[in-house]
Amino acid sequence: MHWYAVVLAVLLAIAAIHAGLGLVRDKVPDFFVAMLAAPLLWVVFACLVFRLALPFAPQAIILPILLLGTFFIVFPFRISIWTLLLVLGVEAGLYYTGSQGLRGLLVNGSTYVVASAGFLLFADSRAYCRRLRERVATEKNEAREQDYARDFGFDEPMPCVADIVAAEDDDVAENLSTVEAVVTSFEIQLEIIRRALSLQSVVLFWPDATGAGYKMRAMAGNSEQMRDGPFPRGAGIFGILQRSGAEVALAGLSDFGGLPYYFKYQDVGGVFAMVVADNSSCADGKRCGVLCVDRVAKDEWQVEELEFLRLAARKLGLNVTMGRRLCEMDRERSVNAQVVVGLRELNGVLDLASAFDATISTVRGVLAAEFVAISLKEGECHRIARVEGVGAEGLAEQVFCKDDGLVGQAMAKNRIIPTNGVNRTAAPIFSSAKRVADFKSLLIVPLRKEDGESIGALVVAARPGGVFSQQGQQILELIATQVAIKIDLARAHEKISLLATTDGLTGLANHRTFQHGFDVMLQRVERQKRSLCMLLCDIDHFKGVNDTFGHPFGDQVLKEVAAVLAESVRQVDLAARYGGEEFALILEDCDEKGGYLLAERIRQTVAKLPLSCDNVTVTVTLSIGLASFPKDGVEKSVLISRADQALYRAKEDGRNRTVLWSEVQHEN
Ligand code: GH3
Ligand code: MG
Ligand code: MG
Repeated sequence: MHWYAVVLAVLLAIAAIHAGLGLVRDKVPDFFVAMLAAPLLWVVFACLVFRLALPFAPQAIILPILLLGTFFIVFPFRISIWTLLLVLGVEAGLYYTGSQGLRGLLVNGSTYVVASAGFLLFADSRAYCRRLRERVATEKNEAREQDYARDFGFDEPMPCVADIVAAEDDDVAENLSTVEAVVTSFEIQLEIIRRALSLQSVVLFWPDATGAGYKMRAMAGNSEQMRDGPFPRGAGIFGILQRSGAEVALAGLSDFGGLPYYFKYQDVGGVFAMVVADNSSCADGKRCGVLCVDRVAKDEWQVEELEFLRLAARKLGLNVTMGRRLCEMDRERSVNAQVVVGLRELNGVLDLASAFDATISTVRGVLAAEFVAISLKEGECHRIARVEGVGAEGLAEQVFCKDDGLVGQAMAKNRIIPTNGVNRTAAPIFSSAKRVADFKSLLIVPLRKEDGESIGALVVAARPGGVFSQQGQQILELIATQVAIKIDLARAHEKISLLATTDGLTGLANHRTFQHGFDVMLQRVERQKRSLCMLLCDIDHFKGVNDTFGHPFGDQVLKEVAAVLAESVRQVDLAARYGGEEFALILEDCDEKGGYLLAERIRQTVAKLPLSCDNVTVTVTLSIGLASFPKDGVEKSVLISRADQALYRAKEDGRNRTVLWSEVQHEN
């Protein structure tokens, strides 16, 4: 072991013990430990590893250079210069022990010096400093703002709010945020106090959200000498203040070590500290701030000075209260903005499903609801059309008919229950058979149409009590009114679109829907390489039915035949009125054989339909033509024309039968 390794090891041990002792005693680390020990430890460690362990690896020189670069760029010159000297010392040690020659020492030493100078020039360059300053400033500001908002009780506005406000009103976004404004005003006030009373530093502390320790929130004085904390509530001046009540004034001090926020010993002659009370947060005696000022002069504090400081502390407390109010206003504003955005979204949708979605998202954005449901009247019952949140499982589409639930009551009475949004009764929300979670906050708002008639109810709930304020209830009523109108509109729209897509007499898809549906189904089976069947059905001698029994009876027959078709096909199939007394069926995933079996079943069922007019039993029959994809054709028009040809053949062959196009083809 070389002598310099021993020296370095001793240095390392001293620094480690020093730092360790400091931590154990929870003492304020002085300048040496805070600023020098950590870098020194690393230098020593790196040199030991890289230069002593690998003295003959010339490329190892790059490691101390990297280290020097880090120090010269990150730390001030007065610290990095020690690093350089240490590295040079290690090189000298290598020379004295003969591990390297004079040439090696000179080359390595000068390399370190030149590299250090380069790093120093870079770190001091204007562009680098500006970039660094900007980054540090923005990072510090962001972190500090969040801290302030939380600890002063200015709960942050909801995350999406900023965007909404920015979208609604660009001026606001450019202005100072409320928290920023309050902090800036603190700093100005502290500086005024400092100058007015010739103080060394003036600092405002506020506990963090847990109330465990004080953190420096604003200060006037030499910030380089100060730490932000947090400081334990019993540390130094904070402990003294706690024991002596609301304020403490110390004068004639020498060697005073009770200001934990100074990095190193400061000449302090007088200290004044007092509790800064903010109306709401100080009530529990926990979350008050502390104003702490100190000066070099040892003179007693004058009555006027103390009076001035008390007034200043009172003013600072008021500032916190005001900041909180401002933040509340911010939040209210953002809620209003959210309602506006939500209603706008609600107005923009046409169908029922989107109207429900928009309602739920608006309600959840505005109120802290854990459960939202929309239930719509259906005769004497009501059905849950949409439900989300805690305990929502298994509730969707449930129908409640008995009046034992609060929702049923709200609909029957056509008014909001319970009052004030507090659920005091043990009555179930929907029914005693289907209990939801235990919600202490609850609002059931009837959905009233313009004429006042209720068409359902909007239910919001949360497990904690007192979640829904009076304002929340008003907003919910506003939303409910809009939702009711929207649901009415959406229902009307659905009816219209149903009319446009279905045949009025039979309720089957109309010709246009058939064409479109056929396209979609064809594309799907083509893509998935599956089969499909098309049946074209025509009622035999229908003209005769009309002529004999009258047109209204003919209509009745059409309806009954259509009902047979609708019942015979699956959900994925398409049954349409192709025209007059012709119907088309498209069967997905069905080959010629399967299609034939179904066609025959339909034909037999229709033939057995119990139809009668004026006590005369009437029998109608169907002729059916069948074409299948891809066997008989791959294009829509080809398939239709081939099914038609098969139908024609069925008519020719005597009606009341099913003919496959493949048979027609073989015969030709
Ligand atoms: P075929 O066995 O050859 O099919 O004979 P058909 O009489 O059924 O055929 P045709 O095409 O000659 O007659 C179709 C009739 O269907 C003529 C028309 O009055 C009647 N029809 C078409 N649409 C309706 C409707 O909506 N209601 C009623 N009642 N009859 C309709
Ligand atoms: Mg016809
Ligand atoms: Mg016919």
